[in-house]
Amino acid sequence: MKLSVIGSGYVGLVAGACFAETGNQVICMDRDEKKIEKLRNGIIPIYEPGLDQMVKRNVEHNRLFFTTDIKDTVNNSDIIFIAVGTPPDEDGSADLTHVLDVAKSIGENMNGPKIVVNKSTVPVGTAVKVKETILKETNFEVNIVSNPEFLKEGAAIEDFMYPDRVVIGTSNPKVGELMQELYAPFVRTGNPIMIMDELSAEITKYAANSMLATKISFMNDLANFCDRVGADIEKVRKGIGSDKRIGYSFIFPGVGYGGSCFPKDVKALIRTAKDFDYELKLLKAVEEVNEQQKKYLIPKILGYYNNNLSDKTFTIWGLSFKPKTDDMREAPARTIIGELHKYGAKIKAHDPAALHEARRLGLDKNVELFDDNYQALENSDGLILVTEWLEYREPSFQKIKSLMRKPVIFDGRNIYKPTKVRSLGFDYFAIGRP
Ligand code: NAD
Repeated sequence: MKLSVIGSGYVGLVAGACFAETGNQVICMDRDEKKIEKLRNGIIPIYEPGLDQMVKRNVEHNRLFFTTDIKDTVNNSDIIFIAVGTPPDEDGSADLTHVLDVAKSIGENMNGPKIVVNKSTVPVGTAVKVKETILKETNFEVNIVSNPEFLKEGAAIEDFMYPDRVVIGTSNPKVGELMQELYAPFVRTGNPIMIMDELSAEITKYAANSMLATKISFMNDLANFCDRVGADIEKVRKGIGSDKRIGYSFIFPGVGYGGSCFPKDVKALIRTAKDFDYELKLLKAVEEVNEQQKKYLIPKILGYYNNNLSDKTFTIWGLSFKPKTDDMREAPARTIIGELHKYGAKIKAHDPAALHEARRLGLDKNVELFDDNYQALENSDGLILVTEWLEYREPSFQKIKSLMRKPVIFDGRNIYKPTKVRSLGFDYFAIGRP
């Protein structure tokens, strides 16, 4: 099939590469000229394991193309995916500017009937808006599909190639069949392709992210309570996770969720409900718990240093919002760094993949960035583990101790064993652990 993907970011580029991998001819379009120039030169602008080889392979086999030309893109594809950003607006609602801009451009450049598939995460009712916007510009037939994406950064290729499910929102059975055909290679092990109406498909995406965010905030709230009573949240976690109805995934306590999806999607769903005169009380609490959780280590740090951080230097391990990505959108590390700066502390930081992103965000103006995680510890007064990258899990504690001014660890992801690190001479603080 002749496909195009408009927006070549984390979702668009992965979707484009994976569709090309199954034999389709795919044009990846983006308005960011620098990004497209990089892609044409074989440089992948984001960190995503496995993506570079897949892009290279499909470019070499003439199945994957990159352009900034919207007319060429629309004219040369039958199915057009929209995968542009839907960032939060000031009132928490999803900003649809990019999606509707793209819809208008598609309408202006239509040269025949098209199927337009919305992969961006959008509030309920957007499929109708996209259709109206396109039809203002053209008389050609257009079918809109709502096809939310569930991939996780860091495992995006695996998630796209082997999805737990594919959700297709369309009220046109023929279009539904075509979409099923397109996705058939990805669900050969029997995972379902669910055809539903557009409104339900749009809500399904927000419901999934909100449920996962709820699990995280629930555990964090409980972890903070464990801190008050001297119980160990890690034991509680194991105790509840073994119940099949609960399960072990997404119940790890820590310094809160971040990223480009959970924070904005929870906010947007709350906001959409408000537009329909409904208050999603539980989700409001989920958001509030998370905002507080990002700062949860700060009072512990202040307490340890008698409320004086002005002559202290801290080392942050992990800047990305989670391991295996360079994405720092809404990353807890940014909140923690901001808070420590307020108290006059100096910050050194390491991340295996996000240093270039940290520089792009201007973090290097007041944070010293290191390529080596141990170097970042020299003369440090405290190690703050924020992102649980694999390479931080079994470090040489002896080396850490020899480099630091004071051997103390604030573990924002509960990855170290308290008895072990304390026996090695560290002071150790975690989340919800005595
Ligand atoms: P992103 O910011 O990485 O990429 C968006 C791209 O769209 C950018 O390259 C930008 O230049 C381009 N763009 C914006 N306006 C454009 C226009 N008018 N024409 C052409 N290109 C344009 O965003 P992302 O993380 O890929 O997210 C895209 C959507 O997918 C969002 O709605 C997001 O919520 C959703 N989503 C993201 C993830 C994720 O893990 N990142 C997962 C599932 C769903």
